[in-house]
Amino acid sequence: MRSLIERLHREHTLSPDELRTLLVGCDAEHLALINQKAREVAYSHFGNRIFIRGLIEIGNCCRNDCFYCGIRRSNRNVERYRLDKETILSCCAQGYELGFRTIVLQGGEDNYMTDERVVDLVSSIRKAYPDIAITLSLGEKSTEAYQAFYQAGANRYLLRHETHNEAHYQSLHPESMSLQNRLRCLYDLKKIGYQTGTGIMVGSPGQTIEHLVEDILFIETLQPEMIGIGPFLPHHDTPFASEPSGKMEQTLLLLSIFRLMHPKALIPSTTALATLAPDGRERGILAGANVVMPNLSPVWQRSKYALYDNKASMGAEAAEGLRLLEEKLDAIGYVIDKSRGDYEN
Ligand code: SF4
Repeated sequence: MRSLIERLHREHTLSPDELRTLLVGCDAEHLALINQKAREVAYSHFGNRIFIRGLIEIGNCCRNDCFYCGIRRSNRNVERYRLDKETILSCCAQGYELGFRTIVLQGGEDNYMTDERVVDLVSSIRKAYPDIAITLSLGEKSTEAYQAFYQAGANRYLLRHETHNEAHYQSLHPESMSLQNRLRCLYDLKKIGYQTGTGIMVGSPGQTIEHLVEDILFIETLQPEMIGIGPFLPHHDTPFASEPSGKMEQTLLLLSIFRLMHPKALIPSTTALATLAPDGRERGILAGANVVMPNLSPVWQRSKYALYDNKASMGAEAAEGLRLLEEKLDAIGYVIDKSRGDYEN
């Protein structure tokens, strides 16, 4: 096991069989070792600096019905909202004032948010803040739409593929959605020139070690600039309400594997990790993550963007909790970096 970890550190790749062995046989001692190696790699590229991204959850209306998602179309218990342009711009202003130089606009696939409205929104933000990075996380769109958003000033796009296994994808999504289209989107985004983020939920219902190996190999092929890894967490109003959460240890193992395979990637320590355990955020960083995404959305709206139960959105998750975040990072020897934090080759 040790020699596999050392080779992954040195060569940034392993065969499918070796990945399988690592995923199945990594005990606590070897998890500590791979976390340490991943931390050292992150440190060698980013020092003790953690990039921050200001997250604005622009709306929870969605035409899709992903089985794992708390804001899926079929959930009648969600109070739906949509931030108007002025509110979003004022969130950007608040974030800019706090020092954020990346904002992330995230939302469901909302029919009201036409491509024209997204272009208008992105153009307005770009005009007001020429120096920030604009990241979009608005789901699957046409090639033309992605191009138009890019031309309007968007720089990055987050779209997790969730699983690269066709049968597993179908078990997590309704028939109207396809893995093929998700992958088409990701290749479009890369081709257009976005810094592109993809990733998976760890421990999603039905996920096997074979699926994880497929995911790792796909991400190795795609070479995304950003990799989002978080545990699956159930939401009580979904078909997966009684499924168990993903495991902290497996999430940290995968995070470290991705760091060793993609030394310069931007890898967040996700809100889902922080929800799974009070020290989840810190453990993610100590396993090789180098990004956190505090919430810049209006406080009244945060509880409505519940993708899963008990989602962390206050305290160190909130932009106004930046000082608390700073203290938490300081306790493990890290500092906030407020620069744009672009991917660098
Ligand atoms: S995961 Fe995204 S696309 Fe799927 S239902 Fe939730 S918000 Fe919509």
